Amino acid sequence: MAVFEVGENLFVVDLFEGARPFRSSAYFIRGPEPTLIETGSSNGHTYLIDGLKELGYTPQDLKHIVVTHAHLDHAGGAGLMMRSAPDAVLHAHPRAARHLIDPSRLDAGTRAVYGNAMDALYGPLLPVPSDRVVVQEDGSVLELGNGRNLTFYDTPGHAKHHMCVFDNVTRGIFSGDTVGIRYWPQRTGWDFFFGFPTTSPSDFDPDVMLASLDKLERLNPEVVYHTHFGPTRPAAQAFDFSRRGVYAIQNIIAGLKDDADPSLVEQQLLEHMKHEVAHLAHPVEDFSELGLDINLNAQGIIVYMQKKKAGKL
Ligand SMILES: [Zn+2]
Repeated sequence: MAVFEVGENLFVVDLFEGARPFRSSAYFIRGPEPTLIETGSSNGHTYLIDGLKELGYTPQDLKHIVVTHAHLDHAGGAGLMMRSAPDAVLHAHPRAARHLIDPSRLDAGTRAVYGNAMDALYGPLLPVPSDRVVVQEDGSVLELGNGRNLTFYDTPGHAKHHMCVFDNVTRGIFSGDTVGIRYWPQRTGWDFFFGFPTTSPSDFDPDVMLASLDKLERLNPEVVYHTHFGPTRPAAQAFDFSRRGVYAIQNIIAGLKDDADPSLVEQQLLEHMKHEVAHLAHPVEDFSELGLDINLNAQGIIVYMQKKKAGKL
């Protein structure tokens, strides 16, 4: 199942990140102005084209492409998709737009986290022509016709260049990486859904993330559309697991020395997750599918602690 309907004229397309299902998605809004939310990385491009085709569309039909933030698993394929979609404009956060137009810093920053595995993980990173980028400020609205509109909200915490997008028709939020990751049973091999925040480098800030969660929940959303992966309905469940995770991270940080080793942070995150899962009455031992995320989360927590110590938050 690579494409499925999640709301009125709204579909999720599985991008098969790392050739695996239920990890990363894009959303497609059908209507007078066909709109894509997220492109995934360049490696997801053919899956995205196939998904659109399954819905009876081609990239040439697209009028709008929205990316929640500049990270490569969300927007790394934006340059490639814009070449395939000549009639589309790209909507981005003010801080993300410049990195999409000139991806050199994005390339260097990503390489610093992933090393040269980056190329295999994400594929090429192509620039987007500046005259096709629309910068969306906090609170700005995009009309899609037929009474549908999207409102953009500045939501730092995971990344300073992150925005979330509210859909008035389904009262849903396209949350990017701000309202956690929803781990599907099809991904983990477990028999239940699990949720946890994503705190990867280099902008993670727990206090700022909590403020963004509050800001989004004040919109009274009914559903959260995660990029990783699919919808959480009711939305309150996603806010709940995200907050619980951030509180746990704050506790971990409070108990760490300034020069803590990332492996110690990983170990404590894993302990916390095992505890959470046991609390849900689903004891499991195999957390291997979460290994990469736990590693990235630990790195992001360490970077936060270092920045805080240096007064550079
Ligand atoms: Zn992501």
